Amino acid sequence: MNDFVYIGEQLKNIQNQIPASVQLIAVSKTHGVDKIAQAYQSGHRHFGENKVQELLEKKDQLPGDIHWHLIGHLQRNKVKYIIPFVHLIHGVDSLRLLEEINKEAEKQGKIISVLLQVYIAKEESKFGMEEGEIIAFFKTQQWQRYPHVHIKGLMGMATNTENHLLIRQEFSGLKKLFDQCQEWHPLSVLSMGMSADYSIAIECGSSMIRVGSSIFGQRNYHTS
Ligand SMILES: *Cc1c(COP(=O)(O)O)cnc(C)c1O
Repeated sequence: MNDFVYIGEQLKNIQNQIPASVQLIAVSKTHGVDKIAQAYQSGHRHFGENKVQELLEKKDQLPGDIHWHLIGHLQRNKVKYIIPFVHLIHGVDSLRLLEEINKEAEKQGKIISVLLQVYIAKEESKFGMEEGEIIAFFKTQQWQRYPHVHIKGLMGMATNTENHLLIRQEFSGLKKLFDQCQEWHPLSVLSMGMSADYSIAIECGSSMIRVGSSIFGQRNYHTS
């Protein structure tokens, strides 16, 4: 089987497993534009990258109707480069970053869709805002201070573990927070679930999954 069949088949397999209401983001980080083009040719339009430089390089070589999602930790000094075209920023993990996105969006005459990233894992390595901060943000209507940002929902990453019970607890906790925040501000997107845990995430109420290795194969960080 060649790569073309493989990537298209994998996308179809996953689409067939998940409810139509759940949106699949194909996480193409570290993979070449040839593979993204194959996924594109099979009809896929939503792709996720986690590094601004890599995203900019790839974007220029690919069709203009791709919806690009910035999924990882975003540095404030890189925000301005993605404002012109980014579809959704998933990893807003501080108010300083939100402030910067709002400032650049205003400068460039845009309204940018974002998700606030919530820290839900039992791991030191993951980014995100604390649950209490998120509640305070919505309760005190702080979104009003960022008129060039559209806060569409929340994003979270579960602990990287074989312990499905723990993953389920973390995702369920995020869903509960998501529902709670809706009392103050309408939210439509709950981004949770990756290759290893998207089935659990969907059972817990995810509306958007970010899947990389199950579509494109394993990433090799040691070659470019
Ligand atoms: C890499 C990455 C993914 C996809 O991970 P896979 O395990 O390859 O599916 C999803 N979300 C974020 C934030 C990522 O950095």
